[in-house]
Amino acid sequence: MSAVYVGVDLGGTKVAVSVGDRAGTVIARTVRPTEPTGTPESDVARLSEDVARLVARAGSALSDVLAIGISAPGPLDPTGRRLLAPPNLPGWDDVPLASALEDRLGRPVRLENDANAAALAEWRHGAGQGFANAVYLTMSTGVGAGLILDGRLYRGSRGAAGELGHARVAWGEDAEPCSCGARGCLEAYVGGGAWARRLQKITPTSSAVRAHARNGEQITPVHVVLAARAGDEFALAELARFNDYLARGIVNLAFTLAPEVVILGTIPTAAGEDLCFTPVRQQVASNLWRTIADGLQIVPAALGKELPYLAGLVVATTPDT
Ligand SMILES: [Zn+2]
Repeated sequence: MSAVYVGVDLGGTKVAVSVGDRAGTVIARTVRPTEPTGTPESDVARLSEDVARLVARAGSALSDVLAIGISAPGPLDPTGRRLLAPPNLPGWDDVPLASALEDRLGRPVRLENDANAAALAEWRHGAGQGFANAVYLTMSTGVGAGLILDGRLYRGSRGAAGELGHARVAWGEDAEPCSCGARGCLEAYVGGGAWARRLQKITPTSSAVRAHARNGEQITPVHVVLAARAGDEFALAELARFNDYLARGIVNLAFTLAPEVVILGTIPTAAGEDLCFTPVRQQVASNLWRTIADGLQIVPAALGKELPYLAGLVVATTPDT
């Protein structure tokens, strides 16, 4: 049997596992709810069983697996081998995930934070193909940036690069508080979690946003997008605010890195061209030097539902450089 790779996407709500080849072709896949038990040892044991079972289903043996790549919520420790207290995995406090899986499966394990893994996946297989300098921005619960610079993943000192979510886009006492304890962070304005909390508080009863969140469901940015498409004034104003702060974040990023492409996942991709990309591109261009703006594209992520299966796989197939 020929050599294969395994990818694991350890998300807050779902675990996706894939078996594939170096070109990113997924041969077998499986997904299940994360269901953390509060005891990392049991969770890691279940994860290793998932991997072993899927490898067998793909018609391979564990000895055929060249590497296992894991995309996991950050932060990771400075060596990149341990997970430090991801907010969605209760009880996971400083877990040596890479070594623990290596011990159980006997194959090399590579670990990457989810923003870096998504950036690698979009760069290799999605909207970032062909660019030497690409930034992937996710705005799901938190806000994170994965940086591909000069044709390789840039991790920064102690692996801490890309925390754009905590760059300041507002100052003073009126600035929004952030989950990190500071005020005025980009994440406090465009992070899905922070935005959902704000929407819960301020959405007027007359807004169609409430009608989209049926049965007392928590209001989310998806409901804003749906209501904005139908012309709801409150939803349009909320999206304009989101676009405004997102553009400020991209301007800061572009002045620092001058990337060729900024790839936006999650909320912007759901909102689409008219409601998000066109206004964001305009505001970025009018606040950036021409020399930088002319070389910059702002595009939607391309992998969609394939991302979880490719994020772990691309970590497995990307050699350390
Ligand atoms: Zn913050």
